[in-house]
Amino acid sequence: MRHLAILLIPLLAAAAPPAANPDAKLKRIIAPVSAAEMRRTVDTLVSFGTRHTLSSQTDPKRGIGAAVRWAEARMKGFGLATLQTCDTVTGRRVPTPTRVCNAVAIQRGTERPNDVVIIQGHIDSRVTDVMNFTSDAPGANDDGSGTAAVIEAARVLSKHKFPGTIVYAALSGEEQGLLGGKILADHAKAQGWNVIAVLNNDIIGNSCSSDGMCDDKHVRVLSEGPRSQGQGDLAAATHSLGGENDAPSRNISRYLDSLADRLGIGLDVTQIWRTDRFGRGGDHIPFLEAGFPAARLSVALENYNWQHQDLRTEKGIKYGDLVENMDFPYLAKVTKLNVAALASIASAPPPPEPTVEGAVSTDTTVTWDCCQQNAVAWNLYWRRTDANQWQEKKRIDAEAGVVQLPADPQMPAAMGRVIGRAILKGIRVDDWVFGVSSVSADGFESPVASAVPGGAFKPFVAAPKPAN
Ligand SMILES: [Zn+2]
Repeated sequence: MRHLAILLIPLLAAAAPPAANPDAKLKRIIAPVSAAEMRRTVDTLVSFGTRHTLSSQTDPKRGIGAAVRWAEARMKGFGLATLQTCDTVTGRRVPTPTRVCNAVAIQRGTERPNDVVIIQGHIDSRVTDVMNFTSDAPGANDDGSGTAAVIEAARVLSKHKFPGTIVYAALSGEEQGLLGGKILADHAKAQGWNVIAVLNNDIIGNSCSSDGMCDDKHVRVLSEGPRSQGQGDLAAATHSLGGENDAPSRNISRYLDSLADRLGIGLDVTQIWRTDRFGRGGDHIPFLEAGFPAARLSVALENYNWQHQDLRTEKGIKYGDLVENMDFPYLAKVTKLNVAALASIASAPPPPEPTVEGAVSTDTTVTWDCCQQNAVAWNLYWRRTDANQWQEKKRIDAEAGVVQLPADPQMPAAMGRVIGRAILKGIRVDDWVFGVSSVSADGFESPVASAVPGGAFKPFVAAPKPAN
């Protein structure tokens, strides 16, 4: 950000240090999340018979069309602006051109409408044969649970205002090849949204597996390692400087983990350091491919008898994705974590883009682009290279951390570049990973962006190759 020094420095210096307690505010915001309300939502979704992407789009009571229209109307009923994002698709699991539509609601930010955080689940359902669009496919948990989380988040958060924008999306076409996720990711790109995080909720409403194991105290958060988008250009730098555990999506995972610890809702995050379950996929992947940070939330223990199954009883075992298999108090806890993360990210300035220097030095210098709108401070974090969570933290207030670098010594200082900078004495750059988050006046904090190749929350853009 050049040529803005004169404007920014007085603005930042005027900001007061926060006395607010953001976690107490988040706890108040999430309190109304209701298991009973979500059960009603899932019951309604199941009542459409099947929500298969190839099922009827016009029948008023049965099929994907009725379900998507209902989800949109429900969110509109909360006073939110809604739309359907659609595309006509053919593919391996879509034999003839088919209109695929997502129900989307947008809660526009009051101060930074272009900074967007997304909660999504998929509204389509399936049975054993992925092409069977006529049999009943209740999809209560897969993914009525995620869709119910989207609608419940909209219900609860629409009563508040946030500086950043929250997008609520019930996606179609997931089971036919992540189609709705692609449509929304394309929409985000076309709109120029600065997507800070996508929380993809898929299978979040059961707590017992088919082997009798139960766990209602954990939720898995799956995140990619090295960022996939731009990896061809990033590979050499990542190989040399690290970053395999520090893509922005992984820092979303760390953010959710830390938030769950602080909220006291009886739910811990198990971070799973891979893009999705082994050999499987979800609607966060099209966002990752577009360069947007995204993570998947899913139950601690899946029950494979209850997903992607024809409704039947065989050798005494009841198969099918039915409401009776769900744990709604557990679903409410996972939803509370989502709602807290949405409120927190939409209240915080976007994360900066830090870089780190200090080779052959006893000190480390971390610098970052500044100054994110409404950031009054940054938190500088560092951790050992083999630690899964940030270990050390230092708050850098704007007055102390913002420096002006003359881009050119001949140039007046005020025409130079304004950056954030912190020098850590006696900390060796070799042995740690560093990251920076932005903090608002009322104490809300963005996810941490790591100072590694590909760590920025924006899509990676390769430097132009020098002409020869
Ligand atoms: Zn699913």
